[in-house]
Amino acid sequence: MNRRQILTAATATLLAPRILRAQERVVSLYSSRHYDSDRQLYDAFTQESGIRVRVIEANADQLLERVRAEGANSPADVIITVDASRLARAQEMGLTQPIGSAVIEARIPAALRGAGGHWMAVSRRARIIMFDRALGAPEGIARYEDLAAPRHRGQLLIRSSGNGYNVALAASVLAADGAEATEAWARGIAANLARPPSGGDTDQIRAMLAGQGRIAVANTYYLGLLAISQRAEDREAAARVAVVFPNQADRGTHVNISGAALVKTAPNRAAAVRFLEFMTTPAAQRIFALGNMEYPAVTDADVHPFLQSLGGFREEAPDGPKLLANSPEALRLMQRAGWR
Ligand code: FE
Repeated sequence: MNRRQILTAATATLLAPRILRAQERVVSLYSSRHYDSDRQLYDAFTQESGIRVRVIEANADQLLERVRAEGANSPADVIITVDASRLARAQEMGLTQPIGSAVIEARIPAALRGAGGHWMAVSRRARIIMFDRALGAPEGIARYEDLAAPRHRGQLLIRSSGNGYNVALAASVLAADGAEATEAWARGIAANLARPPSGGDTDQIRAMLAGQGRIAVANTYYLGLLAISQRAEDREAAARVAVVFPNQADRGTHVNISGAALVKTAPNRAAAVRFLEFMTTPAAQRIFALGNMEYPAVTDADVHPFLQSLGGFREEAPDGPKLLANSPEALRLMQRAGWR
């Protein structure tokens, strides 16, 4: 040991709390996002701020339950998840606190932030209708409601009713059309399915292009990821797809978000706010939103040329608390209607 090492060893116990403080340049994320590009964003933040990022990944319900169970001892600073209703749920469970950042309030529109500023969107995705460009648009398919029309019998490819994206969509239909109409809608969808629901959104697009049905429903980023895939056959598939942004003449296309909430008991609150602010920078929006081919949450941030090529659209901003309140009934109606 040299003199310095001896000194260090001798004073380690004395200085322990102070050393820990210095090491506290860390932020803990509980994330349910499952996208490869997120790691890049965390690395970029560390590089810029010197703050390390610790990530615990699990599904959203497990993460919220874990934060709740850990209580005041939770190491979680930030919860990252998809679906505005889950962020609203975190807030309703009392797991969050106001972010209180003027930077974020200036960059993220109010409609994409939670009540009291407890959470914020970082990116947006639309759930849209896709068809084979070569076959042309199926007749009369301008609204989500049209997916249930008898003329589309046997033509519809959409994943199961239990899928969160579909629950959120049905919750928004429920808010717009009421329970009776929503159940009838779900019954029409079940009747129109080209096959029993299977696979994820990308599988619906592929099945549609393979001729299993004329109409696929998927989130925009799944098409976007095909369009930028390393594999030529994926890019060719994406080029064959044309899209309909539903409900342009009324409430707008159903949009949901990826977002982040500040945990009420965040042990590293300052680092967490800094991380959340970082997510609104052009560089972070490019990685976080465009890395997964989503629309950015920051109004003037870059939109990928492929997404631009799909065209602009009128959107129904996600009302987290309302989606949360409507989800259980929406799921019940879908299941009662026989949408598996
Ligand atoms: Fe997804």
